[in-house]
Amino acid sequence: MSSRHATETARRRTFAIISHPDAGKTTMTEKLLLFGGAIQLAGTVKGRKAARHATSDWMELEKQRGISVTSSVMQFPYKGCIVNLLDTPGHEDFSEDTYRTLTAVDSALMVIDVAKGVEERTIKLMDVCRLRDTPIMTFINKLDREGREPIDLLDEVEKVLKIQCAPVTWPIGMGKRFKGVYHIHHDAVHLYSPTHGGKIQRGEVIQGLDNPRLDEVLGGQAAELREELELVMGASHSFDKEAYLAGRQTPVFFGSAINNFGVQELLDDFVENAPGPQPRATETRTVDPSEETFSGFVFKIQANMDPQHRDRIAFLRVCSGTFRKGMKIHQVRIGRDVKISDALTFMASDREHVEEAYPGDIIGLHNHGTIRIGDTFTQGEQLSFTGIPNFAPELFRRAHLRDPLKMKQLQKGLQQLCEEGATQLFRPLVSNDLILGAVGVLQFDVVAHRLKAEYNVDASFENVNVQTARWVSCDDGRKFEQFRDKVAANLAVDHGGDLVYIAPTRVNLQMAQEKWPEVRFHATREHG
Ligand code: GDP
Repeated sequence: MSSRHATETARRRTFAIISHPDAGKTTMTEKLLLFGGAIQLAGTVKGRKAARHATSDWMELEKQRGISVTSSVMQFPYKGCIVNLLDTPGHEDFSEDTYRTLTAVDSALMVIDVAKGVEERTIKLMDVCRLRDTPIMTFINKLDREGREPIDLLDEVEKVLKIQCAPVTWPIGMGKRFKGVYHIHHDAVHLYSPTHGGKIQRGEVIQGLDNPRLDEVLGGQAAELREELELVMGASHSFDKEAYLAGRQTPVFFGSAINNFGVQELLDDFVENAPGPQPRATETRTVDPSEETFSGFVFKIQANMDPQHRDRIAFLRVCSGTFRKGMKIHQVRIGRDVKISDALTFMASDREHVEEAYPGDIIGLHNHGTIRIGDTFTQGEQLSFTGIPNFAPELFRRAHLRDPLKMKQLQKGLQQLCEEGATQLFRPLVSNDLILGAVGVLQFDVVAHRLKAEYNVDASFENVNVQTARWVSCDDGRKFEQFRDKVAANLAVDHGGDLVYIAPTRVNLQMAQEKWPEVRFHATREHG
């Protein structure tokens, strides 16, 4: 491989933050961008959120519910590395999006609230990371507040999440008594002073645990710290890079994200130890990032990211080779070559045009309805990346249009929003209904809000007599035609044009399956 490709690949760090809502993911994202020099003052991420609130009811919904349903990609340089941070939505109903985003990262950062410890959503996300043994670093946040004993927290992480903890920093007190952290690997104390205005904080650093300056500054807390550390060192694991990279051990950092404290220690360690781009499995072989030819897969699609542009973006993770502006790439599923002259990059949260992208990078492709989640792009090789999860819809509602003249707009809106993968559109063969399938009930509210905000369509979703759906296929063309004629009343096409059996009851589905043994019924749309 060319040395430029090798160097550029080696310095990529692509990761996502996993946490329970409110633990501090947004704050952490903002501070990481601050340390990455991507923004001058903290508050920009929030500011961006606020600016969007003004333009979109969908964001209004997000604000009302106190959840983050948007998801984006941010790239920033740090100490010679190029860091790609993939944001994930926090609310449970959007978990499919989160799961898919986790297939596109090489490691994760887990943020835990010191007062709350391991929470339900963290457990679920950790399960997802474990599917691929994703390496995880842990940041225990909000040490400026009273919380649980750090030792108990590590114990809880080990027991509940079943991963070894290796503390890298250790907190000195908490709440009002929070004085800073001791860096175990550097044998140095980083002192804390709360800051305002969002500047990068450079507190005093005292080298050596035995340094008398420590007693001067910390008084009685210095002796406490030494005692506690002795206990901690005896009872916990020391950092083992191999165990971390295998997903068996998590290095742990303490701090206060909102005060920019402890974040730099984490980031320094992250760029040093977190894995670069990893090999990825396809149906036929494993693709190594060192390969010269380009390949990548789409893990996410988002409509109307920028309300002013009304565009739809497919997010592609580069797995091998170099992507260059104007390059022709091959969309494997439909066997089509496309020239990409206007791919997007996400440097510092502003959208810019990509000149070059390397393994680990995410590029945004304009989607005109032909790209699906899970699609593989190559330079001609027939590859198909695996492991991008698909979800079977469990809830179904019929779209009800308040203004019948807006039918075209409704169809277009539903079609485009369904490309994102969180909801799926079904059009029955025998009626003009538009049926939406989703995994979580909140998604219907979000779609209704977005239809209004982004397509100016007033629609609501009402109950419909559908309990479950199965994508159908059959090797015997004649049989399939018979099947289509006989059960037409139960058939629909989805937004990708595939045929789906929609069943009013599970019993009905079972009977159809027994009656048509030649027809295959699949729970999700991507079934090879
Ligand atoms: P998210 O839901 O995980 O994205 O959490 P946010 O970053 O929005 O934070 C949730 C709340 O916790 C907000 O009110 C933050 O201001 C607050 N918060 C975040 N980090 C800290 C911290 O270090 N200390 C304290 N006291 N509050 C924090």
